[in-house]
Amino acid sequence: MKKDGAKKKKIKVKKSIKIIIIIFISLIIVGITSFFLIKHFTSTTYKLSKLGYSKEDIKILKETFKEEELNKILDKKYHKDYIVVIKDKRFQKGQYLEYLDRLNKGENKEDIINNLDPVVIDLRKKDGYQEEYLGDYLDYLDNHQDDTKVINYVNFMHKIKKNKDYLEDNLDDYMKYYLDNETKSEDDIIKYINFKNKIIKNSLYNEKYLDKYMDYYMKNQSKTDDYIIKYINFTNELDKGKNYNKKYHQKYIDYYIKHMDKKIDDVISTINADEKKKEDAVKAPSKEKPIDISLVDATKFKSATYYIADYQDRYVEYQAKNPSKSTSEVIQAVNSNIDYKFYTNMKSTKTSEGYLMLVNKFYTVGSSYVPSNLVNVTGGGKLEKTAAAQFEKMVQAAKKDGYTLKNVSGYRSYSTQKSLYNNYKARDGQTKADTYSARPGSSEHQTGLATDINTASSAAHFENTKTYKWLINNCYKYGFILRYPNGKTYITGYKFEPWHYRYVGVEAATYIHNHNITFEEYHAYFVSH
Ligand SMILES: [Zn+2]
Repeated sequence: MKKDGAKKKKIKVKKSIKIIIIIFISLIIVGITSFFLIKHFTSTTYKLSKLGYSKEDIKILKETFKEEELNKILDKKYHKDYIVVIKDKRFQKGQYLEYLDRLNKGENKEDIINNLDPVVIDLRKKDGYQEEYLGDYLDYLDNHQDDTKVINYVNFMHKIKKNKDYLEDNLDDYMKYYLDNETKSEDDIIKYINFKNKIIKNSLYNEKYLDKYMDYYMKNQSKTDDYIIKYINFTNELDKGKNYNKKYHQKYIDYYIKHMDKKIDDVISTINADEKKKEDAVKAPSKEKPIDISLVDATKFKSATYYIADYQDRYVEYQAKNPSKSTSEVIQAVNSNIDYKFYTNMKSTKTSEGYLMLVNKFYTVGSSYVPSNLVNVTGGGKLEKTAAAQFEKMVQAAKKDGYTLKNVSGYRSYSTQKSLYNNYKARDGQTKADTYSARPGSSEHQTGLATDINTASSAAHFENTKTYKWLINNCYKYGFILRYPNGKTYITGYKFEPWHYRYVGVEAATYIHNHNITFEEYHAYFVSH
């Protein structure tokens, strides 16, 4: 029993020690935890984050200020602005505390910066200053002294970057060129540098002509770098060519422009030979070969289609001069008068023939002829009343099929045609002008029966449009014909004009359409004979 009692006592003591140890350890843990918690909640990082600063802001603040300064800041009521000020590009390092002190005194942030930064204050007063580029102005001020120059430079740089032809790779070159050419527009500067950087990579590029290439380009911007290099190289080296003759200088150039694959010596010898031939021809004019009509079977024409008895002698003569032509070709040629030269053997147009009157390089209307009953038509301009009504019908029919037809040139007076033709003649010379423009009195437009539809320019390539296709397949139904078709220039005397239509009435138009002949041929056979 005694022994038992002693044992129990021992166990009790052991338990008490255990409890004490546990309590002691717990106290230590609580103590350490409290220490760290207190440390955390009293740290500046915590206080700053409580005030709403981001981690990144806190990092900047801690790098900028000492611990005790930071604590000061934490008490002040404008604390929110600190980070804004510190991040401001215009803020000068080392001046933070002055900024902040003044901020705390209630001064406006912008005013403080303005007051403190004389460079910015000055810049802001300058013409052309733009706040959004301030950072760039300050960057470039390091390299350039003059404020105004820097403002213009930076403004120009931003402007040029927005240009549609701007190339990032060329920026340095643009800016270098700009500094020497400040009065030039950014368009010109971009074009100049873009082209220059392109041309110097061309295999035919010759450094000594660079200025000449560039001058030529700036005046002829539609030309390619290849063309310009070849042209400049050629014109500058031409006089060194073998057998160069100063007299033909321009002729060499004119020829070269059409044959740019040729070498200088080849161009020179071609032109020299050509010119020699011409001179020889002048010295000894070739006598016309006498024609021998006895070789022609004069009876064969009578049975040919479109035979006109009045022209019998002309058929024979034309056949004798052109033995390789077939009978029908001879008939076609003579009926269309092309055994004569254009604008020779002129006759007066019989205006009494109405819609079938012929006006061309052999038949002319007088300067005083003005059709009666001219009326306005779709697209502007005027046409003769019946032609106009038929034109409008055609416009409506085309519209139904989804095509738009507009008269862009209808009736033209004699005097209008005269000034048009004289302008062309002055520009291109008579020979060339005759291929596309009528001499006054020879224009169908003076009859009020001709219309240029939608365009009057070859460059528009109207012949490739669906509208043209529609017209070709339908115009005859309204009495119109394509007057100057492709491949009939030798008869009509005009190059292909896909836009020029002539009212001749439905019957004639249908015949001409079905038999694929020209109005010259139709008129000779059905109207004048
Ligand atoms: Zn026309």
